[in-house]
Amino acid sequence: ATPTAVMVSSEVGTRMGVLFRGGGAALEAAKGVKTVLFDKTGTLTMGKPEVAAVLVGEEGANAVEQASVILSDLIYAVESESHHPLASAITSYLRGKSGEQVSAGSFAYKISELEELPGRGVKAVVNKGEYSVRVGSRAWAFGEKGDLERQLLTASELAQIDRMEREDGLTVVAAVVNSSLVAIYGLEDTVRPEAEAVVSYLKSELSVACHIVTGDSEETGRAIARRVGIPTNNLRSRAMPWTKIDVVKSLPEGSGCFVGDGINDAPALAASSLGIAIGAGAPVAAESAAVVLVRSDLRGVVNALALARATFRRVR
Ligand code: ADP
Ligand code: MG
Repeated sequence: ATPTAVMVSSEVGTRMGVLFRGGGAALEAAKGVKTVLFDKTGTLTMGKPEVAAVLVGEEGANAVEQASVILSDLIYAVESESHHPLASAITSYLRGKSGEQVSAGSFAYKISELEELPGRGVKAVVNKGEYSVRVGSRAWAFGEKGDLERQLLTASELAQIDRMEREDGLTVVAAVVNSSLVAIYGLEDTVRPEAEAVVSYLKSELSVACHIVTGDSEETGRAIARRVGIPTNNLRSRAMPWTKIDVVKSLPEGSGCFVGDGINDAPALAASSLGIAIGAGAPVAAESAAVVLVRSDLRGVVNALALARATFRRVR
């Protein structure tokens, strides 16, 4: 392609809300894409989760009188320290549920040793060791083995959580306090309205394979894959930020494209031969990507690839 063609295409892209930050290099990278890896939360979905289901474990409800109030305050206090979209969803839910009470109660807690673990959750020590709190994925919050989970939740509760993930596609967040008090939140995040059509177009018109790489559980990943028309064979769940890089690097050089929005996607966006960031996502995601979808509309992925192919098509 002539420099003029590249310049014109970049301009066309910008007008469509597809910003080629790398100019000609980004366009050229987009022309060879054969596989698109989508992050789930905030990319295939809107990234504005809301609490849709709550379950307080037997221990949580019965152990101490008012245990669930203590539980809510503790969870509120710890999640207030996190910037993760799931954390904001949980704090707004708790605020809405008990009005001023929850947020006021939570101020009484002194938080120390707060740690935010990407892809897992947050943990903290409260009141100099009176409570130890973990809020995050089941696999992590209950400990890797899952024994604690089976110990603290009844069979019917476990079945209920299973349904939340498998059937409703909810993201399940577990809060565990002192290895005994438990609350489970099921968070619903709307799939972007254009997601299914974009996946279908990529496959049938551009012969591009679509995959999901998510930090969420296998069950929730599958439910979302089904909704957007991505085969469950093409799903990689429980992916940590560094696993996302490995998946990117496992593709033949120059053939992969990673689409993401979060801090946890930044390394993969930078490592991919073509990184595409959702405009409304984390600033560090946009800075790590070659292409930014200014309108956060997934149709921009199709437009980017189609525009690049058209630009470099040989004209005889
Ligand atoms: P994704 O790759 O789908 O965008 P993340 O890697 O950001 O997801 O998070 C993966 C999982 O880690 C979430 O599904 C959730 O279970 C857990 N998690 C991470 N941070 C938090 C937090 N602050 N509060 C609750 N859960 C969290
Ligand atoms: Mg994300």
